[in-house]
Amino acid sequence: MALRLRTAVLTLDRRGRPVHWPDALLVVDGGRLAEARPLARGRAPRGVLDRRGRLAIPGLVDAHCHLPQYPAVAADGGELLPWLKKNIFPLERRFRGEYARDLSRLFFTDLAAHGTTAAAVYLSVYAESAQTAFEEGERSGLRLVMGKVMMDRGSYDGDFARTHPRESRPHASLRESDQLCERWHGAADGRLRYAYTPRFALSCTEGLMRAAGAEAARRGAFVQTHLSENGAEVAAVRRAFPRAKSYADVYARAGLLGPRTLLAHGIWLSDAERRAVSGSGSTLVHCPTSNAFLESGVMDLPAARLAGCRLALGSDVAAGPSLDLFEAMRQSVFAQRLAKAHGLFKTPPQATPLKAFALATSGGARALDLPAGAGTLTAGAPADFVLLDPAAYDRFGPAADAETALARLVYRGSAAAVRATFVAGRRVWGRL
Ligand SMILES: [Zn+2]
Repeated sequence: MALRLRTAVLTLDRRGRPVHWPDALLVVDGGRLAEARPLARGRAPRGVLDRRGRLAIPGLVDAHCHLPQYPAVAADGGELLPWLKKNIFPLERRFRGEYARDLSRLFFTDLAAHGTTAAAVYLSVYAESAQTAFEEGERSGLRLVMGKVMMDRGSYDGDFARTHPRESRPHASLRESDQLCERWHGAADGRLRYAYTPRFALSCTEGLMRAAGAEAARRGAFVQTHLSENGAEVAAVRRAFPRAKSYADVYARAGLLGPRTLLAHGIWLSDAERRAVSGSGSTLVHCPTSNAFLESGVMDLPAARLAGCRLALGSDVAAGPSLDLFEAMRQSVFAQRLAKAHGLFKTPPQATPLKAFALATSGGARALDLPAGAGTLTAGAPADFVLLDPAAYDRFGPAADAETALARLVYRGSAAAVRATFVAGRRVWGRL
């Protein structure tokens, strides 16, 4: 039966323009929005559930996060490579059995509680716990792109020159990924998809990356990896791949770049690298909270936009301290404004709440190739939305226009305002 909901609505339209309807009707039918329109003169049709105190926004898309790392959030200190060794690899090694199941449940519940309806998620090297995570992901009702981490030379003992025993035969790593892809890519009415997940260049041989790229392309699956996050990492990649022209070229040579490829960070890129990323249709996933936390740097968003790169937003938990994409949107605006004040980039950033919101909604939806209209609340779009209590962050009554409503949401909003989360018309968290 259709759900007819009377609520305020804040969204982008399909051309990216902000829309704010203080009094609106959403009709949810068959997993989609059959109607999304303002109500004229306060007149609502019969059979409507009155939630006028709420604000509906499109479900947020977290295009980069790591499930097994969740308990390490806020483990302070250190840049990327030492932080991985000290805080992360020991945790990923523990990601087995019932512990992996419990952590997966917690992680997906928290994603939904933060207003996130779709996410691209890294697991660990273990195929069994990847299977467990997919089972729990199916139960969660969320839209998830996930993959077993592939690393046939960066070992969980923290030695990037050594091979992880589990991954010592690249063929085993690939076969396990293929089997998981076979089982889960397109499962749960297409809500679950598989991503071949070579951790990053330092963790992989060229052979493994090449094979992963070829299999992903053959199966129409995603690829997710990290690109140019930290200065020491970039230098190490240069040493490890002397024949490649650049970090991005390592992935280009391996055939990993394409429209279903998600590249986290992209901070220390040259213009040529940005052009290669853009030309391939790959998405750069901007992770501002993580980039500040690990002292990685500030992503040159204007250069990425000028090069025509697709862009999305990620929490990068656990380097990002929370799953809260409201925080990530806000930090993105702040970091870009500081970069502008310090003259860091050739083209000064024009950071706005609207741009940050677009990254977290329509940008993410495109990166994850979600159904048409996803990331907006428009007729025909999938019914992926969040009901907020705007009183949790807005003390001053109805906003005068859409820009003001968006600015209040981005600068003052947080997961504390989330009351209910819907994916494909089904309530996956909270109360209506
Ligand atoms: Zn990451």
